[in-house]
Amino acid sequence: MSEGPTAVAGGRRGILVVVSAPSGGGKTTLVKAALAADPALSLSVSCTTRPARPGEVDGRDYFFVSPGDFTRRRDADEFVEWAEVFDHAYATPRAPLDAAIAAGRDVLLDVDIQGARSIKRVFPADAVGIFVVPPSFAELEQRLRARGTDGDAQIKRRLDRAREEIQAARETGVYDYVIVNRDRERAASELQAIVAAERCRLSRLAAVHLD
Ligand code: 5GP
Repeated sequence: MSEGPTAVAGGRRGILVVVSAPSGGGKTTLVKAALAADPALSLSVSCTTRPARPGEVDGRDYFFVSPGDFTRRRDADEFVEWAEVFDHAYATPRAPLDAAIAAGRDVLLDVDIQGARSIKRVFPADAVGIFVVPPSFAELEQRLRARGTDGDAQIKRRLDRAREEIQAARETGVYDYVIVNRDRERAASELQAIVAAERCRLSRLAAVHLD
């Protein structure tokens, strides 16, 4: 006997949720909140040549690699993109992304604007770009100072870079969404709402039919 109309969705491709922000934009907290709130979302773990900060774990936050190892893997085409950010090299390993998309698993990528641009180019149908901005430059400067990790020159460098990035983010079309990170909880719920909506995109479904 029929149980009435049911929408049957075939499998869908996984989504690459690409999140960028100027440093001090509050992105790390936001990304952690998104991952904690949504077990179906996993983090793309980048390779970097920068040393681990206190509390960071190899294989969870980054794969911390030597410059030699980084070059070898880059030359072996293991990276979908790589970039130099503040004197260190960063790269996104490609194989886990291909596997996640095919298996319908969603992945969050915390990369800078160069990385976001490359990922959108390589995965135009699967990547969603989200840019997180602080409410103002004054607030950004205050957050960078409160972090206490940088001197004046480094803070100025980060602020200059933030201005360039915000300008570039507006112009490039790399990003589909912007989140103004005024309030931590609201920003987190906006990120979740974006992911939820993207999961419902018809174009991601292998098939939809009614019985
Ligand atoms: P941090 O050293 O503070 O963890 O990251 C510095 C910057 O590098 C951040 O803007 C972060 O988004 C960016 N980043 C981290 N991993 C990657 C990556 O794999 N590729 C690119 N292009 N940027 C990355």
